[in-house]
Amino acid sequence: MTSTLDRPAPGAERTREVGVAIIGSGFAGLGMAIALRRRGETDLVLLERAHDVGGTWRDNAYPGAACDVQSNLYSFSFAPNPDWPRSYSEQPEIQAYLQATADRFDVRRHCVFGAEVTAARWDDAARRWEIETTAGRFRARVLVSAAGALADPVYPDIPGLASFAGTVMHSARWDEGHDLTGERVAVVGTGASAVQIVPAIQPRAGSLAVYQRTPPWIVPRTDHPVSPRVQRLYRWVPGLQRLVRAVLYLVREFLVVGLAKDRRFLRPVGRVARAHLQRQVRDPRLRRALTPDYTIGCKRILISNDYYPAVSAPGVELVTAGIAEVRPHSVVTVDGVERPTDTIVLATGFAVTDLPIARRITGRDGRTLADVWSEGMATNRGSTVAGFPNLFLLVGPNVGVGHTSMVYMIESQVAYVDDALRTMAAEGLAVLETTPEAQEAYRELVARRSRGTVWLAGGCASWYLDRHGHNTTLWPDFTFRFRRLTRRLDRENYVGTPEAAA
Ligand SMILES: Cc1cc2nc3c(=O)[nH]c(=O)nc-3n(C[C@H](O)[C@H](O)[C@H](O)COP(=O)(O)OP(=O)(O)OC[C@H]3O[C@@H](n4cnc5c(N)ncnc54)[C@H](O)[C@@H]3O)c2cc1C
Repeated sequence: MTSTLDRPAPGAERTREVGVAIIGSGFAGLGMAIALRRRGETDLVLLERAHDVGGTWRDNAYPGAACDVQSNLYSFSFAPNPDWPRSYSEQPEIQAYLQATADRFDVRRHCVFGAEVTAARWDDAARRWEIETTAGRFRARVLVSAAGALADPVYPDIPGLASFAGTVMHSARWDEGHDLTGERVAVVGTGASAVQIVPAIQPRAGSLAVYQRTPPWIVPRTDHPVSPRVQRLYRWVPGLQRLVRAVLYLVREFLVVGLAKDRRFLRPVGRVARAHLQRQVRDPRLRRALTPDYTIGCKRILISNDYYPAVSAPGVELVTAGIAEVRPHSVVTVDGVERPTDTIVLATGFAVTDLPIARRITGRDGRTLADVWSEGMATNRGSTVAGFPNLFLLVGPNVGVGHTSMVYMIESQVAYVDDALRTMAAEGLAVLETTPEAQEAYRELVARRSRGTVWLAGGCASWYLDRHGHNTTLWPDFTFRFRRLTRRLDRENYVGTPEAAA
């Protein structure tokens, strides 16, 4: 569905003036727009490169795509959905929820689809963001980047990949029209997407080779259908669904004790995972190959009941030798084995520590976010950056979580940004900018709390850490502490320039 603004050519030459420009229409962009709408603000635009809302849940339509957090928790607090069909929803239901929520809060009319932001520059004289998109130019007082941390697929640098004569698909760019029936399929990667894809395509594929670099820790998925009776109960007694949400939140939060405070508390989780593997994989050699050698939690803990049975199935091979090269009709591993292949599925993740949008946003002194972050990402509360006035980041550095719902973190940040915007209005500020000192203090706080966490000390390499080995992606503490930090704007850490001085 397209908005009335989704007309490419005619408006492309003129510059549209707008109060708040939001990049992206996933959970974060929609959440921000809805917060503004709910307090009567309509001078906003959502710039979305795709042709619908949804972000992650629009793009990751691979077979088996589903959420790893229960829907009662993985949804907006202000928009509960009593009709979730399962405790853990699948991609189509979450995408439908986001579409319905965008409609309910009348956000679509602010969306410009097909508008990829190619550059955004702060004009210090005009005190505006100059934004170039593939659907025209915009000039905004405030820029909110909600471009996603897991939005840009990473394609591995495998020699010969470009010469492959069959089909290559990234998990986040699935070709629905491609039929895998009877094909010889290679799945590269064994992360969160792969453990969902492998069981979903295994019955159809003629043969399946799963190329594993590091085995993940996997625990059982306690998924179940939600009965119509429970759905009715949720509708009649909304407090009940809120209570379930609160309980889920607390149970999951307990994991932080093990992940970030004292790794001994992860031992019971490790035992559950080991027993799961033991139960589901009978072949001792395969079991050994599937047993991780790092502390559980160091990489994202995955949940699945059908991955182990799928890799144990006839016609499926778990390949642990690294890939040396791809030839037009095969994949060759470093041990010299060549496996004829029709389709390669790249479940190889996303650009996380090197966000593409960071190369497109230029601050006051002419440097991009990527330039100033070249030695590591630094922000105030994952949301603002010194030298980048009136810019707010949603799901910025150190806002990620692996143990609970990202929507909780997104809502925390949206409240913070909304308070910043209300502060600007109340004080008549044209410009609001965080101080380098506040940014440095926050960087130290994150570094201090990251010390001793399983992500740094768990003995694995993961996308949570940047090339310097620093944690720049995850929030290293209880999420309620992040919420407390972002409850309202820390005004003392900002310099404001009044409109009159503009
Ligand atoms: C397969 C998968 C499974 C996941 N499962 C879970 C889970 O179980 N639990 C959990 O908490 N989280 C999960 N996540 C994380 C998930 O990304 C977040 O929960 C959440 O959806 C992020 O929302 P977002 O709005 O920040 O980003 P996104 O949903 O990624 O939205 C970003 C939007 O910005 C747009 N965009 C990007 N760059 C530009 C540009 N230059 N110009 C214009 N538009 C642009 C994109 O097209 C996209 O629509 C999962 C992620 C993936 C990929």
